[in-house]
Amino acid sequence: MIEQVIEGVWWIRGQDDFLPDSHMYVVGLPGSEDFTLVDCGLMGKGEYKLDQIDKCGVPLGHVRRILMTHTHLDHIGCLPELKAAIPQAEVWIHSDEALAIERGDERIVMGNSMFESMVRGMFSIPKDAFQLTVQRNLEDGELLNLGGLPFKVVHIPGHSAGSIGLLHEGRGLFLSGDTIYADWAIGRYDLVSADPTQLKRSLELIAGLDVDILLPCHNRIVNGGAGPMIKETVAQWGPYLS
Ligand SMILES: [Zn+2]
Ligand SMILES: [Zn+2]
Repeated sequence: MIEQVIEGVWWIRGQDDFLPDSHMYVVGLPGSEDFTLVDCGLMGKGEYKLDQIDKCGVPLGHVRRILMTHTHLDHIGCLPELKAAIPQAEVWIHSDEALAIERGDERIVMGNSMFESMVRGMFSIPKDAFQLTVQRNLEDGELLNLGGLPFKVVHIPGHSAGSIGLLHEGRGLFLSGDTIYADWAIGRYDLVSADPTQLKRSLELIAGLDVDILLPCHNRIVNGGAGPMIKETVAQWGPYLS
């Protein structure tokens, strides 16, 4: 269930059931004692993800932060479970979604009211389940040192207002969240805070990056040669997004 994509970047597959569970990426050079979890997963998947982090050989005591590509339920759902096991981990979210999380405004988390009433009942989620302190608000263009690996924050709104990607320019490695997937798929753009026009712009921005390794948060990853597929995906979807 784990694949080390490059040195210091592990892919932990989501464990989809009735609802999707986002992938998690563990980032940080071995020996750095500074590891980052990128996205968490659905409610109830905390134990599975913790077990997988252990299998990467990453001690929980060396996990410094949990960085969210965005705050949809299938990504943030088990964040409280992970925080309970990794209390020292900071939470980093793009500024366009961080404030809502801090206020306990869960409209973006839930996506839409029909889905919200379904999952609140299904998982007995209390009203303030995801109200938490965000230690760092991320902004477009910031350069992060994640355990010895350089990543640039790329704001790519459209799937949600505060969606971000993380780009390792030297390796052409892009963590794309739910904005663009492998196999000519893109994220949905009909949920709270989504915007097809913004998504079109974000996809065009991604097509202009030099991406070789595409690491999305659902389904397959593309471990090399992703550039042409990304450009085709963007060209194909463009006419539907405006
Ligand atoms: Zn997702
Ligand atoms: Zn999403």
